[in-house]
Amino acid sequence: MIPSPAICVILASPGARRVPSLSGSPRAVPPRRPMSLPEKGRGAEELLAEIARLRQDDLPVRGGKVTAYVYDTGRPEVHEAAAAAYFEMLEVNTLDPTAFPSVVEMEKQVVGAVAELLGGGCGIFTSGGTESIMLAVKAARDSRRVPGRPRMAVPVTAHPAFHKAAHYLGVEVDPVEVDPVTFRASPEAAEAAITKDTVLVVASAPSYPQGVVDPVAELAGIAAARGVPCHVDACVGGWLLPWLREAGARIPPFDLSVPGVTSLSCDLHKFGYSPKGASVVLFADPALRRRAYFASASWPGYTVINATVQSSKSAGPLGGAWATLHALGREGYLELGRATLAAARRLREGLAAIPGLRVLGDPESALVAFGSDELDVFVLSDEARKRGWFLQPQLSYAGIPANIHVTVTGVTLRGVEAMLEVIAESARAARERGPARLPEGLVELVAGLDLDALDDAAFAELAASVGVDLGGSGQPEMAVVNAVLDALPASKREEILIRFLSVIYS
Ligand SMILES: *Cc1c(COP(=O)(O)O)cnc(C)c1O
Repeated sequence: MIPSPAICVILASPGARRVPSLSGSPRAVPPRRPMSLPEKGRGAEELLAEIARLRQDDLPVRGGKVTAYVYDTGRPEVHEAAAAAYFEMLEVNTLDPTAFPSVVEMEKQVVGAVAELLGGGCGIFTSGGTESIMLAVKAARDSRRVPGRPRMAVPVTAHPAFHKAAHYLGVEVDPVEVDPVTFRASPEAAEAAITKDTVLVVASAPSYPQGVVDPVAELAGIAAARGVPCHVDACVGGWLLPWLREAGARIPPFDLSVPGVTSLSCDLHKFGYSPKGASVVLFADPALRRRAYFASASWPGYTVINATVQSSKSAGPLGGAWATLHALGREGYLELGRATLAAARRLREGLAAIPGLRVLGDPESALVAFGSDELDVFVLSDEARKRGWFLQPQLSYAGIPANIHVTVTGVTLRGVEAMLEVIAESARAARERGPARLPEGLVELVAGLDLDALDDAAFAELAASVGVDLGGSGQPEMAVVNAVLDALPASKREEILIRFLSVIYS
């Protein structure tokens, strides 16, 4: 395949030996190696040493300097208890609950704790928010016969897991706009989006991008009046908002006790502080939960009964979540809630005092997004990264400007002044540097690129040529990548991201 002349110019750029990683650091294009199965078995000690080497460039999972992806209580003993329980349950297969009754008992306890905190109902333990949402969408789809192709009304700030569920389950998404100032889903827009084919209305508590809680009672009421189920995505907030409320925050009602709410997702691997692979989806009605289940006797093998998307799976995550809940208890979570609330308040106050920055909306939760009309937030994020902090950039979408997202957790409070200092310094540096400079015509070039005509190697070279500082400082230059993505429509961003994934795994 011969790229167009314009691409050749870019491909010929010097220094194109690295591709950017989404987490911000440039990543060497891995050399093609033969399969790495060793001829002879190796000892555990040697393997652990190799894992330590492999993890050298990973972001730290503890300590609070990474303000996304990881949730640290600041109490190592809690994470150690979870790891031990995870290990204890590791080889148990949840596939057959009659073979391993421990799974049923543990799951009933974990789901029961979530239901107790979030308005009752019955539920399923799943591998994460995406799977919880997948099951909620399947249950809604299968509980309602509609004349046409099933549709759901989804606020533009809702998590992509709904788009993924729609894609996998043959459901159409009707986007619901949000208020441009509060970023909360518009009840009028939701009402207008409901058709005779609508099987689900979605609300977030809170939505991830700005950390604000949608008007759940209104949205659920509108759905109920039309006989449509309503799912509350409390993946990030379900195990956070109740503790913040108890610590003194004003949190509107959002759970299954709200009339019209028929299902709710709550991730324990976020503010439950459990090891990854832990979420719960609750249903108001056991009949709706049964619509999430799957059974098959249509083969000559063992009968299959699955509560989740996965079939064979380790009970490790269930053990880890169970142990974390017990290791912290009500008191532990409330204390973490207090610290989180104090840190979130201090962060918002501190951000307001930094020239050029402003917090987006009025978040009830511990997720804080800030933007700027004066400086390039992507450059700010790169500057923070140089100072040892990971602040998550968010692209502009649906009229919401590009911004930086910080997830405040239990461990944030002890480092919040340092975080503010770094943000202030990074903002000053970003102002001095000015916005990311894109090679002229690059956005138009990428927008017009026929990706199907580029193989992964050519794409890697192209990405490398725009992804790193060609001056050779070795610092990640994600600002350029983010600026290019930011200038593209969502569909083009998605194409590029998929190619990016294909390249880093080649
Ligand atoms: C994290 C998150 C999800 C998806 O959860 P995963 O566990 O990453 O699959 C869904 N909704 C919201 C609001 C989230 O924050």
